[in-house]
Amino acid sequence: MKTAVIIMFTLINLPYAQDALEPVISKETIAFHHGKHLQTYVDNLNKLIISSEYESMALEDIVKKAPAGAVFNNAGQILNHELYFLQFNAPDKAKKEPTGALAEQIKAQWGSIDAFKAEFEAKGTGLFGSGWVWLSKDADGKLIITQEFGASNPVAKGLKPLLTFDVWEHAYYLDYQNRRAAHISELWQIVDWRVIEMRYEQQ
Ligand code: MN
Repeated sequence: MKTAVIIMFTLINLPYAQDALEPVISKETIAFHHGKHLQTYVDNLNKLIISSEYESMALEDIVKKAPAGAVFNNAGQILNHELYFLQFNAPDKAKKEPTGALAEQIKAQWGSIDAFKAEFEAKGTGLFGSGWVWLSKDADGKLIITQEFGASNPVAKGLKPLLTFDVWEHAYYLDYQNRRAAHISELWQIVDWRVIEMRYEQQ
């Protein structure tokens, strides 16, 4: 007899205080975004996967295997937000520029870190509606910027996600209202490139 391991997903703890990302992201936005929006995706997924083929599956595997629909959307949003929240640190603590192998690869492909940031910002600003802009690594170690709509994540395309900006309005509306581009350009102040470099070096 096979004993099924049932996985209950839980809300990740933030590795910083709710007000640590100010003035780039307010305490109020973090409280809603992490405590309400992400919590809701976690609660929804736990209800949806009971007695389904997904109930003993790891989060990434659910995102890779689930067809378009509620399971994919809620699992995707949990994975997206975990990668998003864990890449940040307080403005005075974040490592603000990449170094080492990742920086060399960015320069090889874009010419400079600033040129990379400009394309990343443009793809985030230009994404129509709700979604995410991502930097990922492909199977050959090359970097790629993609726009993902709704809840999608690059793992669904076989890519390794490294860095992401959430461009759903709930990510910035309390602080920046309709000024998505202004929000995006401020986010570089809190991206901790130590985290992105670590993801890049992992398989
Ligand atoms: Mn979000």
